[in-house]
Amino acid sequence: IVSIQSLQKSFGDTEVLRDVNIDVHRGEVVVVLGPSGSGKSTMLRCINLLEVPTGGHIYFEGKDITDKKTDINKLRTGIGMVFQSFNLFPHLSAKENVMLAQCKVLKRSKEEAEAIALEELRKVGLGDRADYMPSELSGGQQQRVAIARALAMRPHVMLFDEATSALDPELVRDVLGVMKDLAREGMTMIVVTHEMGFARDVADRVIFMDGGVVVEEGTPEAVFDHPQNERTKDFLGHIA
Ligand code: ATP
Ligand code: MG
Repeated sequence: IVSIQSLQKSFGDTEVLRDVNIDVHRGEVVVVLGPSGSGKSTMLRCINLLEVPTGGHIYFEGKDITDKKTDINKLRTGIGMVFQSFNLFPHLSAKENVMLAQCKVLKRSKEEAEAIALEELRKVGLGDRADYMPSELSGGQQQRVAIARALAMRPHVMLFDEATSALDPELVRDVLGVMKDLAREGMTMIVVTHEMGFARDVADRVIFMDGGVVVEEGTPEAVFDHPQNERTKDFLGHIA
């Protein structure tokens, strides 16, 4: 469903992605690990064209998104993204945050958008918080609103970039729980995270990036228990 081929990205003279190749199949959960600065966020941002690749190709559902003719807005409705920061609109309620892009981008009617918003908020465990303002919600609840907002667009792939990194430890579990549910329902997911427990339990495949390339990939068992690459071993040794 997503095929990243020889992806390169430079900022000026700095080569951040040197040659990234990743294939993600429908329904697969791929967890991406790697040290800070290895290019994980940049790689995810290239997938929905928040960054424009400087080389290589990315295919989404068979279409080359690096093609100039790609409709970026249409692409982004098919690819949901959740960041470390939740980026909710502070003056809109949880429900209104989830409705906004549905009305603006997908041109759904208010009634339809509201019904879908309530359904998605219920799914992330916030059915009773629809009318709360972001400031009245915990960080974990705000992040779940952000997930509901992405899901309301009915994406075919979800990208998560350290979605739990900004949260207090006791709130991390709820957000990971929502992500696990999504995985169980068959959502295709590319997840950058430092949560090794999540990676072990949920990932079909783990990818380890360093220096702008994929240095190792395999099942969680293979990568965690029998890493082949010295840099992977070093990284896992430091966090274990
Ligand atoms: P972290 O684990 O810290 O989030 P990461 O693997 O997500 O790291 P990236 O955010 O992709 O790493 O950054 C990789 C490199 O690219 C870094 O050295 C960073 O300074 C550089 N970089 C990222 N965005 C830009 C930009 N807009 N302009 C210049 N350099 C950038
Ligand atoms: Mg990052």
